[in-house]
Formats: sequence, structure tokens, C-alpha cells
Amino acid sequence: MKVRNPRTGLYDYEIEPLSAEALVEKANQMRNAQKEWFKAGIDFRISTLQKWKNEVNNLKNELIEALCIDTGRKWETVLEVDLVASSIDRWCAISKDFFAESPRKTSSIPFLDIEQALVPYSLVGVISPWNFPLLLSLIDTIPALLAGSAVLVKPSEVAPRFIKVLQQSINEVPELSGILNYLEGAAETGAKLCEITDLICFTGSTTTGRKVYQAACDNFIPVFLELGGKDAVIVTQTADIDRATSAVLWGSVANAGQSCLSIERVYVHQSIFLPFVSKLVGKANQLNLAFPERDSGQIGPIISDKQVAIINDHLQDAIEKGASLKAGSSFCEEMKGGFYCRPTVLTNITHEMKVMSEETFGPIMPIMPFKEIQEAINLANDSKYGLSGAVFAGTEEEALSIAKQLKCGAISINDAALTAVMHEGEKNSFKLSGIGGTRMGPSAIKRFMKQKAYLINTSQVKDPWWFS
Ligand code: NAD
Repeated sequence: MKVRNPRTGLYDYEIEPLSAEALVEKANQMRNAQKEWFKAGIDFRISTLQKWKNEVNNLKNELIEALCIDTGRKWETVLEVDLVASSIDRWCAISKDFFAESPRKTSSIPFLDIEQALVPYSLVGVISPWNFPLLLSLIDTIPALLAGSAVLVKPSEVAPRFIKVLQQSINEVPELSGILNYLEGAAETGAKLCEITDLICFTGSTTTGRKVYQAACDNFIPVFLELGGKDAVIVTQTADIDRATSAVLWGSVANAGQSCLSIERVYVHQSIFLPFVSKLVGKANQLNLAFPERDSGQIGPIISDKQVAIINDHLQDAIEKGASLKAGSSFCEEMKGGFYCRPTVLTNITHEMKVMSEETFGPIMPIMPFKEIQEAINLANDSKYGLSGAVFAGTEEEALSIAKQLKCGAISINDAALTAVMHEGEKNSFKLSGIGGTRMGPSAIKRFMKQKAYLINTSQVKDPWWFS
């Protein structure tokens, strides 16, 4: 299977998906190895992950280089690789506390005690997308490993060059190599994973998420879906325009807008609409494309050519329906085989435009004015998605009172896209943005475990409800 290079457009890499039989065999081996992995205890699992962290660090430069080719970008990639160590450390600390809790407690019936036990799902399958290939392949993998599961990971076929390097780091830790494996492959391998694992964590589009949900249903296994988004920001009359424009720009165009949590809809109070647009346009125009070199600017290429077609379609649809282009371009520009999209500001927007209703996944900022706060809340909630959002207001109280009425899982207050950098707040995805327990915060680890209760009678006499 050939893989496209996002900077050159050349198909210069190949992946070799395993056969269905080989996958089944691997799954069986891993299920066997998992028994010892869980039995060895949390301290052993923590020390093994710490060893792995060091091996990842030893291969840091190779990992960065592979990911840079996969994604065509640089600064986001360095950040992505740096996050591995802090993520392992954070989950190690959380899981140590988690497993330290006493399993035994008394009950409301004086002579009955309860002992709680946790049993991990043997083999967890992780299926991840191309926009943050490393980070999103690890986000569920690390807590699942610490919970005591074995994990089979299938990253996206669009950005798979990092897999070999990461697998090399895993192979350097013999305690881990039977428990964690990365697979090359596309839809077929992902579909097979839904058949051969005991729990699926899927991050990707809502369209594929439905198929994964159906497959998990057929296989009768739990599934956690983290899907698309169309995040809205509301900027009230009292907001600091300078702060809001800087944050909205970052939240919309970082990683060239290729983030589920990117701000894709901007609602601004009519009294500050013109200065807001003018400031945002000024700041957007100061950003440069990362061309001809990776570090020539802040905006890298659009990684997937299919996404280029979607962005172009949304821009064309908006312009045909009357949108005004205030900054950027009405299409992705091709440069030496790569496709680049400039930070683009659109006004004269309506909710009939795809750019306000479908996920664009590009650095596009469509802005609509509003008169009343309730109108802005209704517009923000008028979406099939409910991943996250943001509110800017003069006071925290005002912003929070608006945030409480938004139908989405995480809301940045006087900031934007904070879930990109802060993974501690527990949250669910609303509507078509996902389903299942939180992947962030301490309780995320529980997703990988079944609970058992031992109900222990401590008295020597008969129970009062037995037949006398
Ligand atoms: P995608 O749905 O096309 O692919 C995601 C993964 O699913 C890939 O690994 C792919 O090979 C695999 N896959 C494809 N068909 C499959 C099938 N039938 N069964 C099992 N697996 C299958 O998504 P994408 O284009 O790679 O990623 C972009 C999407 O991901 C966007 O919609 C974005 O919003 C979403 N995303 C969501 C989050 C989140 O946390 N909510 C984070 C990042 C990206």
C-alpha cells in the first residue's frame, strides 16, 4: 500500500498490512502475555512504561523526522513528541493513586463487607487518525497499558512512517514487546481489529465511527468513539478583543486547522464585530506558510489530499452562497506537490453554508455577528457536533454562564482549544462527536476495567432473610 508525502505529493513510502490470519495469531499471543502483565502489578507496569519513555527519548530525533515527513509540519511535531514523556509520567502518577485505593469497605448492612476488584479487558484495540498520528495513537494506549491490558494499535495509513520507529522503541523493552504492538494498515486492518479485540478506542471521523460502532455491536464489545467536531466560539461585547483575536487565531489555525478541537465557527457581538474582524485579519495575514522549508512559517501543508478536496468544496460553497473573503484564499494552493491553505477569514456567513455545518478541518474562520447572547448560544448549539467550544467575555462569571448553556464537552473560558494542551478535565463528547466515558482525567483509566464485587458475610449467625 503506497503512502503520499504531504509536501511533495509523491507516493514515496509503502506499508505492509498483516494478513487476517497473522492478526488473529498476534491477538492470541498478546492475550496470553496479558495475564502476566496484569498479575505483575501496577509498580511493574509503571517501571516498564518508564523504561519505554527512555527508549522513546533515545529515538526522539528519528521519531520527529518520521513524523515530519508524515505530516509535512515541524513545530507541532516537536511538541507532539515532547508530550509523550509528560503523558507517560502523568498517567503513571494517576494509576499509582488509582490502584492504591483500598478495595475493602463496609456496607449499609452491618455484617456484610464489600471487596471491589478490577479486571482489565485483555486486549484493547486502538484505531487512530492522521492529524496527530503519534499523540492520538497513544492517548488511550498509555492508560490501557497501565490498567493491565495488552494493546494493539492501528494508526492511520495516511501518516504511518512513525510506526516503525515507535515499534523499535517498544522492541527495546522486552517486558513491553509482547503487550504492545503497532500495526500498519488501513480500513481492512481497522475492521479486523474490531473483530479480534475485547474493547475498541476509536478516534476519527463520524462516518467511520458509525462503522466501528456497528462492528463493536456485532462483536458485543465496548467501544469509545472520539469523532469529528465543529467547535464554536462566542465573543461577547465585553470581551478583550486583542486577547480574543489572538486566541481564536491560534485555536483555528494551529496545525493548519487539522484538529478535531479547532475553532471552526466564530460568533461575535455586533458592537465589536468590525474591530474584531479587522484585528483578526491583521493577525492572520502575519502568519506564513511553512514553505519552501518546514520551518519557513507556521502553517504546514494539508496532510491528506482527501481533506484538500473537502476544504476547497466548503470554501467554494461559502463563496457561491455570498460569503466575503477577508483574508486568505478561496482554495488550497498547490506548491511543489503539497497543498497549503492560508489562514482564511470569511464574513457574510449563514448556517446554510457547509463551512458552518460540516467539519472543514482547515484554517478557516467564518465569522457571524449576533445581537443577543441567547441568539449566539442558539447558533453555537445549532450543530450536529458537540466536541468542545470557547467563550470570551469581560468576566469569568459572564463567560461561565454562557458556557453552561452550550451543548459540548469542554469549553475554554477566555481562551481557546485548551483541550489540545490540558488533558486533565474529565469530559464527554456530545452529539455526533463521540460516545463513551471520558478519555481525559483520572477516571479515564476505568474504561479499560470491569468491576467485580465480592460480597462477604462476616457474621456467624444466619441471615435474617433466610427461611427459618
Ligand atoms: P477516518 O475516520 O478516515 O480514519 C480514522 C482511522 O479509522 C484510520 O486509522 C483508518 O484507517 C481507520 N478506519 C477506516 N475505516 C475503518 C473501518 N471500517 N473500521 C475500522 N477502522 C477504520 O478519520 P481521519 O480522516 O483519519 O481523521 C480525521 C477525523 O478524525 C476528523 O473527523 C477529526 O475530527 C477526527 N478526530 C477526532 C478527535 C477527537 O478526539 N474527537 C481527534 C482527532 C481527530
